[in-house]
Amino acid sequence: MNEYKILNTDGLAKRGRLSTVHGDIETPVFMNVGTLAAIKGAVSSKDLKDIHAQVELSNTYHLHVRPGDEVVKKLGGLHKFMNWDRPILTDSGGFQVFSLSGLRKIKEEGVYFNSHIDGKKIFMGPEESMRIQSNLASTIAMAFDECPPSKADEKYIRKSVERTTRWLVRCKDEMDRLNSLPDTINKHQMLFGINQGGIIKDIRIEHAKEISKLNLDGYAIGGLAVGESHEEMYDVLDNVVPHLPKDKPTYLMGVGTPVNILEAVDRGVDFFDCVYPSRNGRHGHVYTNKGKLNLFNAKYELDERPIEEGCNCPACRDYSRAYIRHLLKAKEMLGMRLCVLHNLYFYNIMMSEIREAIENNCYKEYKEKKIKGMEGKL
Ligand SMILES: [Zn+2]
Repeated sequence: MNEYKILNTDGLAKRGRLSTVHGDIETPVFMNVGTLAAIKGAVSSKDLKDIHAQVELSNTYHLHVRPGDEVVKKLGGLHKFMNWDRPILTDSGGFQVFSLSGLRKIKEEGVYFNSHIDGKKIFMGPEESMRIQSNLASTIAMAFDECPPSKADEKYIRKSVERTTRWLVRCKDEMDRLNSLPDTINKHQMLFGINQGGIIKDIRIEHAKEISKLNLDGYAIGGLAVGESHEEMYDVLDNVVPHLPKDKPTYLMGVGTPVNILEAVDRGVDFFDCVYPSRNGRHGHVYTNKGKLNLFNAKYELDERPIEEGCNCPACRDYSRAYIRHLLKAKEMLGMRLCVLHNLYFYNIMMSEIREAIENNCYKEYKEKKIKGMEGKL
C-alpha cells in the first residue's frame, strides 16, 4: 500500500501505478475537480464511475467553511459522505486562502484571514490544514503552502518559499502524528509536498532539491497556471521535474488544457487536475478530437449528430447537439450536466490513451497527432 511503481517510461513520460488504501491509481491521471465534494454541473459520484474517473479532488478550505470538517468526520469521512469508494485528493486550502481572501496576515505560524462566506476570522497553518484533511480522511493530502503572487519580487518569493519548506516539515510531523491516532479514519493518508518559486529558475530548483530530501509520498509543482505564458510554464517543468524524485508521483497543480497536459506528460508529470472541463462544459463549450465546439452556436440548431461521433459518454450515447443546444439555451440544468459529463469523459479517455501510448513507446507520435487533430490540422 502507498507504493508507487513505474511500469514503463517513454522518454521522460512515466506510466505509473500508485497503490492506495482506496485502490490503484493508474498514471498519468486526471483528477476530477469537485471542490465542495461534488463536481459542479449536477454530476454525482455514480456519474464519475460512468465517465471513467479514477480520482476525485475536493477542497480543504471550502469544506472546512461549509459544512465543516468536523461534520464530515462525524459522518464517516468524505468517502462515506459523498458515496465514493475510489481515491480522493484534498488540496491544502493554501491556494484558496491566498486567492479568495482579501484581508489576510501571513505569519510564521500560519495565515489569519476572513471567511469568504460570512467574514468570520479563521486561522490556518500547516497543523490546522493537516487536521482538517485528516478529518476529511482523503487518500492524499496536500501540504499547506503559500502560492506567492506571480508578480511578487524575487526577494519576497525567496522568503516565501523558505517558509513553505518549514511549513512542509511541520505538515509531515503533524500527519505522522494524526495517522497514529486511534480515531483517525484513514491512518494511511499520504502527503504530497509542493514546489513553489514563481518562474524564477534558481529558486524553483533549490526548493525542489530541498523538499526531495523529505521522502514524501509525492511531489507537486504549484503556483503555475496563474497568469504566466505556456512557454514559461513548460520552461519551469523542464527545469524542475529533473530535480524531483523520479520514483514518486509528479503532480502539476491546476493544469490545464488538453495540450498543456500532453506537453507536461512529455516532461515527466503524471498527476493533473483542472476546472476547465467542468467550467467550459457549464458554458456549452465542449472538447472534441477536432477542436472545441460552442454549442450555443446557431449552426447546431438542426444538428442531429452527437457532440463527437464515436464518443461513448452519457451525453453522446443518447443525445444530439441540437437537443443539448436547446437545453443550454433554455437554461435547463440537464444541458450543463451533459456537457460537463462529455468534457470530463474526454479528459479521462485522453489519459487512458496517453497511458497506452507510453506503454507502447509511441508517446511522441501520439502527442503530435492528438494536438494536430485538436488544432484542426489533420
Ligand atoms: Zn461524449
